[in-house]
Amino acid sequence: MHIMHNNQNPEFGTVTIVVIGGGQAAAQVCASLRQEKYTGDIVMITEETHLPYQRPPLSKQYLAGEQTVERLAVRAQKFYDTQNIQLQLADPVARIDRSSKSVETASGQKFSYEKLIICTGSRARKINIEGSDLTGIHYLRTLDDVDAIRNDMQAGKRLAIVGGGYIGLEVGAVAIKAGLEVTLIEMEERILKRVTTSELSDFYAKLHTKAGIKIHTETAVSGFTANPESSTRVGGVKCSDGTEIAADLVIVGIGIIPNIEIASEAGIECDNGILVDDHCCTSDANIYAVGDCTNHPNALLKKRLRLESVPNAMEQARVASANILGNEKIYCSMPWFWSDQYDLKLQMSGFSGEADQHITRGSMEDQAFLIFHLKDGVLVGVDSVNSPKEFMACKKLVEKGARESNKLDPTRISDTTIPIMEI
Ligand SMILES: Cc1cc2nc3c(=O)[nH]c(=O)nc-3n(C[C@H](O)[C@H](O)[C@H](O)COP(=O)(O)OP(=O)(O)OC[C@H]3O[C@@H](n4cnc5c(N)ncnc54)[C@H](O)[C@@H]3O)c2cc1C
Repeated sequence: MHIMHNNQNPEFGTVTIVVIGGGQAAAQVCASLRQEKYTGDIVMITEETHLPYQRPPLSKQYLAGEQTVERLAVRAQKFYDTQNIQLQLADPVARIDRSSKSVETASGQKFSYEKLIICTGSRARKINIEGSDLTGIHYLRTLDDVDAIRNDMQAGKRLAIVGGGYIGLEVGAVAIKAGLEVTLIEMEERILKRVTTSELSDFYAKLHTKAGIKIHTETAVSGFTANPESSTRVGGVKCSDGTEIAADLVIVGIGIIPNIEIASEAGIECDNGILVDDHCCTSDANIYAVGDCTNHPNALLKKRLRLESVPNAMEQARVASANILGNEKIYCSMPWFWSDQYDLKLQMSGFSGEADQHITRGSMEDQAFLIFHLKDGVLVGVDSVNSPKEFMACKKLVEKGARESNKLDPTRISDTTIPIMEI
């Protein structure tokens, strides 16, 4: 059955759309389908017990106790009620049967679909070494994870963080402010290596060190030891150089794994994520995928990406919903991301890895600056610290660079007397 986007289509209201997952992407899919005037059935099936919530505050304001659980929700219960969205919580989809166009949940319930949208997101990558099953070793992906961490995170305790990416650093900033003793262990030679230049890594390393966090780079974790007073609870982290770091609790932030299993078992093509086209459609024309679980083409960058960001989940949700209803929409956005550490807002657009020139605008000492990443004179990425207004304009500049390959004059970029808007 072809779904028309026109309200006169008698089938328009009767199609059933099943959404698998209950994160940022799933919530936005539900909202976008209704905004696109779809009046038929929507069923959202998620393994979590909570309504979809925002994950970014989990390692920031919520961990710090500055945000209530109610304010985490992407949409309140009322939204699902008034928009007539059927919710199946705490019951993961175990199987997709493409021949009968149905899904089966862990509890054995079956739901038929005309169109299916997979928004299964990703899960924390686990560390599997000696002692990794001791209590007090945490991961940070879900609301329940953070509630357990908060229970464990009293002032004076020694916290070891494994991984110097965004999550590790955000948690470190919250924990040191809360009066814990914090040590961060990073395998690479610098923190944030995967996402930024050494200049910005150094800036953040200095910031955290000044705040009191001990950072060990080029240090791999080889095991965990038990607390001498309790054989089941963690007491230390063993490092590859033979040292041991005493710890009352550990938080591991070493990346994520996309949740592709139910898709790949159903024969949907996957390769480092569920493969989708620029309409967010998978290798099955009746099945779409959105968010962290996807591997998608980016028309601006002319390459495939698997992203872990809210803006991506939101935009793909809009694209998939429009296309499912026959309103053609192509995914074509410049990736961007943000991170809050202490009172610094870091925002990034594009990719610095490909650049051959990095130009700073503003003062690193004053903690308000931008770093422009150029390749052959064309802007390919911008990192912004505490400069949100300029960042919005720069994001557009990065997009323009990708579309038009226009070269920027480095001396003009670094000249703070010339407003960004003029560039
Ligand atoms: C601590 C933390 C901080 C972050 N900070 C930022 C930030 O500052 N900025 C930013 O842009 N991004 C940030 N992110 C990333 C961002 O949260 C994700 O990119 C975003 O949540 C992706 O949304 P999603 O819906 O694709 O996946 P998810 O949010 O992972 O949601 C997937 C949902 O599907 C459910 N699910 C999985 N399998 C099944 C199944 N078989 N059946 C039913 N349900 C299933 C999961 O339980 C989950 O509820 C952060 C993430 C974390 C964890």
